[in-house]
Amino acid sequence: MLTTLEQILAPARAQRYAVPAFDCVEDVMVRAILETAESLRSPVILMGLPSDLEGNGMAYLAGLAGAVATRHAIPITLHLDHTNDLDCVRAAIDLGFTSVMVDGSCLPFAQNVALTRAAVELAHPHGVSVEGELGHVGGMDLEARACAESVLTEPAEVRRFVEETEVDALAVSIGTAHGVYRSLPNLAIGRLAELEAASPVPLVLHGGSGTPEAQLRAAIAHGICKVNYYADCRIAMARGLRQTAQALTREDPLPRELFGEIRQGVCGFVADRIRALGSEGKAGGGGAGRMPAPQGDVGGAA
Ligand SMILES: [Zn+2]
Repeated sequence: MLTTLEQILAPARAQRYAVPAFDCVEDVMVRAILETAESLRSPVILMGLPSDLEGNGMAYLAGLAGAVATRHAIPITLHLDHTNDLDCVRAAIDLGFTSVMVDGSCLPFAQNVALTRAAVELAHPHGVSVEGELGHVGGMDLEARACAESVLTEPAEVRRFVEETEVDALAVSIGTAHGVYRSLPNLAIGRLAELEAASPVPLVLHGGSGTPEAQLRAAIAHGICKVNYYADCRIAMARGLRQTAQALTREDPLPRELFGEIRQGVCGFVADRIRALGSEGKAGGGGAGRMPAPQGDVGGAA
C-alpha cells in the first residue's frame, strides 16, 4: 500500500532502523524491489530522479507503482528524488507521488528555506510529504562528473530550517557523497548526534552506496531513518548484464533470459540492504489482513 514519507519514517525513528530508498525506473526494477521488500516484510521507498524520468517517465513510474502497490502488503512510499523545480513538484503531486525531495542545498540558507517552503505549501494540502536538504551532499552526478563539494550540515541551523519550512524529513551532510567512492568515507557521527538532537523530523542519508557497514550502523543508531541507494544497484545490474551477455546463445532470447540476471542483481542487492538497515520484518501487522506468501526467489546474488 502507498503511504507518505512521514508515515513510513515515524516508526523507523522510534525503533532505530532505516528504511531503504532506491532510485529506479519502471518495470524490472520496480517489481524486483517491491517483491524483495515484501518477501522480507520490509517497508520500502521507491524513488525516481527527474533526469531518469524525462518524457513520460514520471507517469510510467507513478502509474506502475500506483497500480501494483495494493498487491503488496507492505508500506511503500513513492518519492520524487532531487528536484529544485516547483513545476516538477506539481507534476509529481498530480501523478500520485506520495513524497518529494526538494533540493535547495546549493542555495544560501534563506533561499533554501524559501524554495523548500514553497514545495511544502504545494505538497501538504494534497497529503504529500516533503524532504529537504541542509548542508550539501556532493560527489558524482549521473554522468559521473564531479559536482559541488560536500558541505557538512550545521546543527545550529537545523531547528530553524525545519520550523520555517515544515519539511517532514531532512537530508543531512555528514561525510557521504553521491556515486562511487574513490576512497572510503569517514562519517561525522558526533555531528550526526548533534543534528539528531536538534531535528524535530527524521534524518536522511544520501550517498548510501559504498558506505562501510559499521559506519552505516553507527549512523542509524544516531538517527538516520532513510538511506538512499542508486550507484550500488546499477553496479549489481551491470554485473547481471555482463553475465547475460556472456551466456546468451540464441538469436531471439526471451525477455526473462535477457532480464533475469539483471533482476536477480536488483533482488540480491535490495535484500542485502534491507538486512543491513534493520528494516526486515518492520512492515507492520498486515494492514488489510492480506499477507501473500513470500516469493522465495530473492537473495544470494548481492
Ligand atoms: Zn541524493
